[in-house]
Amino acid sequence: MQNYIDRQRQEPEKLEPTQRLKNFDEIYQFFNNRQVRKQADRCVQCGDPFCTTIGCPLQNHIPQWLEAIADRDLERAFKLSNESSPFPEILGRICPQGHLCEGACTLDDGFGAISIGAIEASITDLAFAAGMQLPFPGNRHPQSVAVVGSGPAGMSCAHFLLRAGIQVEMYEQADRPGGLLTYGIPGFKLDKSIVERRFKVLRQAGLKLHLQQSIGRDIELKTLTEQHDAVFIGIGATQGRKANIKGEDHPEVIMAMDYLTAKQRQLFNPDDTADVSVREKKVVVIGGGDTAMDCLRTAVRDGASQVSCLYRRDEVNMPGSAKEFHNAIEEGVDFCFNISPREIRREQDNLLCIEVEKTQLGEKAEDGRQQVEIIPDTAHCISADIVILALGFDVAPLNGLDQTEVATDKWGQIQIDPNSGMTSQAKIYSGGDCYRGADLVVNAAADGRRAALTIMRNLLQDTKHT
Ligand SMILES: Cc1cc2nc3c(=O)[nH]c(=O)nc-3n(C[C@H](O)[C@H](O)[C@H](O)COP(=O)(O)OP(=O)(O)OC[C@H]3O[C@@H](n4cnc5c(N)ncnc54)[C@H](O)[C@@H]3O)c2cc1C
Ligand code: SF4
Repeated sequence: MQNYIDRQRQEPEKLEPTQRLKNFDEIYQFFNNRQVRKQADRCVQCGDPFCTTIGCPLQNHIPQWLEAIADRDLERAFKLSNESSPFPEILGRICPQGHLCEGACTLDDGFGAISIGAIEASITDLAFAAGMQLPFPGNRHPQSVAVVGSGPAGMSCAHFLLRAGIQVEMYEQADRPGGLLTYGIPGFKLDKSIVERRFKVLRQAGLKLHLQQSIGRDIELKTLTEQHDAVFIGIGATQGRKANIKGEDHPEVIMAMDYLTAKQRQLFNPDDTADVSVREKKVVVIGGGDTAMDCLRTAVRDGASQVSCLYRRDEVNMPGSAKEFHNAIEEGVDFCFNISPREIRREQDNLLCIEVEKTQLGEKAEDGRQQVEIIPDTAHCISADIVILALGFDVAPLNGLDQTEVATDKWGQIQIDPNSGMTSQAKIYSGGDCYRGADLVVNAAADGRRAALTIMRNLLQDTKHT
């Protein structure tokens, strides 16, 4: 260990942009056995590992699995990294590590942080490829838990309950499981086979998965509380926000999720004619977060003639990950900063005119961010065939929730006790984006795990007392 002076930090190899744009495949090639060992061997094994204690929302045992893989013990590294995390190979791919574990790494101070995310993804990929399996005990208890929503929060809750031998039935309204891992985050960031492989593990562990079952429409929430000993609600937050400007109801102005979902459906089934085709069209995406980056990079691959991003602040203040921003630039996306839209209308040449104004950043507001100020007399037109709105998400109401005692806030987000994941109604637990608002996969995973631990404690205690 501690070979951080002679050995440089390495990122997984990235395909050249010309290669990447040919399809929707992942752009990174994760480490082989030799590379993963060499990179893990750079770790200094800090006494107080900030990567774990401050950086990782799951408090993963990072130094321990780095040491195990550096010692050539793939099986130990695999088991350790799957101990605290419900899907390390997914999080290693899509966590914004620069803000989390790698940003907290002691070596991120001139030497180059340990490439924790890439090592994490590679360990589980290599272990699965070598035929290694995770231990699940099978159903050992009479109790059962209903999980509503198969996104990262639901998957994580199910994973930890199954590992404790508790039966889990998962209800998902979509035709495939995975939530935004399947129908949001594009394949070039997370290959869909990786999500499918995790569901195979969960099903083998005893998960009963009910697809195309919308709770509140096909089955009442009340029925689940009657049939199960506990219910976990992880329905996410995918209702796109509008810009609230004139002309945004135009048919060529579409919501980010509608575009990404239609494209992914078509990739699953090439006969499915996607509602939205951007081929040879001029596409403008409004927004500066990760969803905007994903729409831009999808449109480039989807054959758009020109793809631009409009963002009302500057590059430094973009909320999205810097890594994905640079990937978008490499792939040919144009960025227009300090621009705010005020109206969308159709022009004579059949193109849309997005009337925009220039902005500047002013005083800091209460949330610590500088306020956006419009610069007068700067209105001008940016033309587009298709405009995609990527401006954030709200929670869609869950039918029947108002007939329970589950408290929600003014935005419709489910309120829970942050230490236990319990809602204000006995037996009902929650977590993920429907509690936090649009957030990160790793935080949804941490919420699902916390709720599972509370459910286990409550149910198994009940058993002891009966
Ligand atoms: C385009 C995009 C890119 C992103 N990229 C990243 C990234 O790179 N890294 C990162 O960390 N995060 C990223 N995120 C955020 C991340 O995907 C979410 O924070 C995470 O998926 C939240 O997990 P969840 O389980 O709470 O909700 P979701 O993933 O939204 O899953 C909720 C599930 O519940 C189902 N559901 C809803 N209502 C019902 C009902 N009534 N009955 C049955 N099922 C129901 C939904 O169909 C869905 O499958 C991205 C988000 C988007 C939109
Ligand atoms: S889960 Fe995310 S933050 Fe935690 S170690 Fe993995 S990549 Fe880092």
